Amino acid sequence: MAELGEGQYDVIIVGAGPAGLAAGLYAARDRFKTLMLEKNGLPGGQIMLTGRIENYPGYENIPGPALVDHMVKQVKSFGAELKANCPAERIERLDDGSFTVHTAKGAFSARVIILSPGSDYRRLDVPGEKKHAGAGVSYCGTCDAPFFRDKHVVSIGGGNTAVEEAIHLAKFASKVTVVHRRAEFRAQKILVEELHRVAKERGNIEFKLEAGVTEILGDKKVDAVTLKDLKSGAAERFACDGVFIFVGMIPNTGWLKGFVELDGNDFIKADPAYMRTRVPGVFVAGDCRTAAAMQLATACGDGVVAAMMMKQHLKDPAWWTRTAEPEAAAAGGW
Ligand code: NAP
Repeated sequence: MAELGEGQYDVIIVGAGPAGLAAGLYAARDRFKTLMLEKNGLPGGQIMLTGRIENYPGYENIPGPALVDHMVKQVKSFGAELKANCPAERIERLDDGSFTVHTAKGAFSARVIILSPGSDYRRLDVPGEKKHAGAGVSYCGTCDAPFFRDKHVVSIGGGNTAVEEAIHLAKFASKVTVVHRRAEFRAQKILVEELHRVAKERGNIEFKLEAGVTEILGDKKVDAVTLKDLKSGAAERFACDGVFIFVGMIPNTGWLKGFVELDGNDFIKADPAYMRTRVPGVFVAGDCRTAAAMQLATACGDGVVAAMMMKQHLKDPAWWTRTAEPEAAAAGGW
């Protein structure tokens, strides 16, 4: 095989969160020339915003940024290259089956692509949200809770993130009002139990269930929200100093429309066994794929599978089409 020149790689991994870093580790250890592209200034994705991780095997608990630091050092030690502030803008498939990735910093080519662009915060899309974003409205308690020391904040959402972040916020805020649109939390039971335990212990968490925030109010700063009781329809002006929105994630896949197949929620369709998209040579890993478990450990697992199956694809390109359809059918399609 011809030596790869400047700007040419065996594999380009788009997104250097845990999925991309794990894929990079396996690819680089197999001596593939590996480039990881990260749109942000720092790699790590969502876990950079996680203060304490206690469900990643091997660590009783570890701050997200510290874990990212270990991962980046490890993957670089095996020769993988990382370009930060380098968002991929478009991917082109050439006639020979290889790819050109166009980025803000030029074009790079590769024989295989692993897509791991992760996902971003879902917005509530209510009046006042945009106006106060970053100054009274936040999507990251781990980042912004200290700015609300001794203040009253509203925390919206009932998933794992919302529950973990409400617990975190209660360490700083004088009062946390948890607003959730249903009576039941979507979060894991152990987290909900912890939230109730902390609420009882600290006495500064209150719950507004079957309720929603329909507007964020305030002139120069947030001073209230409109809180709607979803059963009665009654709305009230509810005073607060800040609003934390934890209503899920949306995948960073808009730029991939037309290149790979996306599902109705814009997650990348892939076969669950081998992380293949329908485009031969393009794998996917992590939170951006259909039916991802959205866990740190599973994102890493996806990256490992994608990098391992890349080896299979490069050794035997016919493997992709020979096995994809029957396996997809067996798994209920993809
Ligand atoms: P999520 O699980 O999708 O939860 C989103 C929450 O926001 C749900 O309670 C949902 O309500 C609510 N919601 C959605 N749209 C809304 C709207 N327009 N208005 C009001 N409420 C709205 O999202 P997540 O908590 O960000 O978690 C994402 C993934 O990461 C999940 O798979 C989660 O398990 C995982 N995660 C895991 C951990 C952990 O294991 N320690 C920590 C954080 C995240 P409904 O429940 O009514 O739909």
